[in-house]
Amino acid sequence: MNLVLFGPPGAGKGTQAKVLTQRRGWPQLSTGDMLRAAIAAGTDLGKRCKAIMDAGDLVPDEVVIAIIAERYDQKDCRGGAVFDGFPRTTPQAVALDEMLSHRGRKIDLVIELKVDDAILLGRVGQRIKDAGGAARADDTPETLKNRLEVYYKNTAPLLKFYSDQGKLVQVDGMASIEMVTAAIAALIDRSGGNA
Ligand code: ADP
Repeated sequence: MNLVLFGPPGAGKGTQAKVLTQRRGWPQLSTGDMLRAAIAAGTDLGKRCKAIMDAGDLVPDEVVIAIIAERYDQKDCRGGAVFDGFPRTTPQAVALDEMLSHRGRKIDLVIELKVDDAILLGRVGQRIKDAGGAARADDTPETLKNRLEVYYKNTAPLLKFYSDQGKLVQVDGMASIEMVTAAIAALIDRSGGNA
C-alpha cells in the first residue's frame, strides 16, 4: 500500500510514519530526512539545499521529485511506502502520480493529521526546550512561522487535489500519539490494508 501522511510541520507525520514502518513494513520516505542526510554528508545537493531549508522555504520540485523516484525504486518499496513530507506542491503531487502509474502503482490513501497552529507552535517550543536549544536549524519559532505560511500557501491546496481523487481521510492530530496511531490503523484497515 502507498500512503501519504499529510499535515503541517510538527503535526506528527514522522512519528506515525515510523510506527507504520515498524508494524506494516512500509518504508518511511521522508524528503526532509533525505535532504538532511545530504547536508550531513556534504554532497552538492546538500550544499544547494541548506540555506533554503534553514529559512523554512521549499527546495525546488525537481530536486525532491528526483530523490523520491530514486528511493522508491529500491527493493524495500515493492510492497509500498509511506510518503512523509512529500508531496508539498501540486507539481510534486502530479509527478508522484505519474511516477507511480509508470510502475503500475498508485497512492491508495492520503491521511491528513489535523492540528491547530497554536499547538504546532507550542510543540516546537517544547522541542527546543527539551533539547536545550534548536535541535534542527529550522526549529526556531521564526522559521516555524515561515514553514507554516509555506504550508498554507503551497501545500494545503493539495487537500483538494486528493479529495477530488477520493483519497483523502482525516485524523485528529491533537489526540495522544497512541490514539492517532489507532485512528490511522483503522483507516488503513478499512481501506483494504494491503491494497
Ligand atoms: P517538517 O515536517 O517539520 O516541516 P521536514 O523534515 O519534512 O519538516 O522538511 C524540512 C525542510 O526540508 C522543509 O522546510 C523544506 O525546506 C525541505 N523539504 C522537505 N520536503 C520537501 C518537499 N517535498 N519539497 C520541498 N522542500 C522540502
